[in-house]
Amino acid sequence: MNLQMQIKALAKQLGLSNLATTTTVFTLEKGSFEDYLIKCLTEEVMYREKKSHERRLKQAQLPSLKTLEDFDTTTGAGITDWQINQLSTLSWIDGIYNIIFLGPPGTGKTHLALALGNKAVQAGYKVFYTSVDNLIHILKTQEISIKSSARLKWIRDCDLVIIDDLGYLPLSRVETNMFFRLVSGLYENTSIIITSNKDFEGWAEMLGDSALVTALLDRITHQCQVIGLSGDGYRRANHKDIFVSQ
Ligand code: ADP
Ligand code: MG
Repeated sequence: MNLQMQIKALAKQLGLSNLATTTTVFTLEKGSFEDYLIKCLTEEVMYREKKSHERRLKQAQLPSLKTLEDFDTTTGAGITDWQINQLSTLSWIDGIYNIIFLGPPGTGKTHLALALGNKAVQAGYKVFYTSVDNLIHILKTQEISIKSSARLKWIRDCDLVIIDDLGYLPLSRVETNMFFRLVSGLYENTSIIITSNKDFEGWAEMLGDSALVTALLDRITHQCQVIGLSGDGYRRANHKDIFVSQ
């Protein structure tokens, strides 16, 4: 076995995947053995970070990759550039703050939630995106589906959980209870983003149990930023007609 092969075999045993599998053979043109070692280890760290990012992006289940830079605040979206800059620092995740985006359909709630989720993945946080419907499905099937129980385990392990579209469909009492229990379990360790087209009174109506909603809001809004989006200007400016004017 030549030296390079020996290095690769040892690297494999140590779980240094990059060094074990790389086809480029590092050579020592100039510099010391320490330089060589630093090069190997740096490449290994970079490789691991890339793999970890890819894995986390996959697990985040973001339906599309939105960015904060693409969000237009000039048309009266209900959020300012300064606020977006503050959110983009992600310090609210470290402080375990929650964000609630409220507003009518099409005002950019999902866009902002996804963009923040994407940014958080880039920054190394563990993120999970789910619609309320899907979350209820996961909760209901946790006993019978390995996929659902694995998802729940991941959700509980995440730094940020995005729950999209609360309020489109009413939830049954059992579903509301499940939802409440999950969120209660999360709220001290995990930041939550919730988007909804209904205001808080609408939540009570839709979840059918005002005592539970009060308790839920108590927990979530303990450390929380509520952001109301309007986005009328954006919708007007980007309205596309199928009729071409003459
Ligand atoms: P909501 O979740 O509030 O119903 P979305 O975030 O799905 O709305 O927005 C609908 C579409 O309009 C998306 O493609 C989104 O990227 C875009 N959009 C909405 N508001 C803005 C905005 N202010 N700047 C850029 N794109 C926007
Ligand atoms: Mg949406």
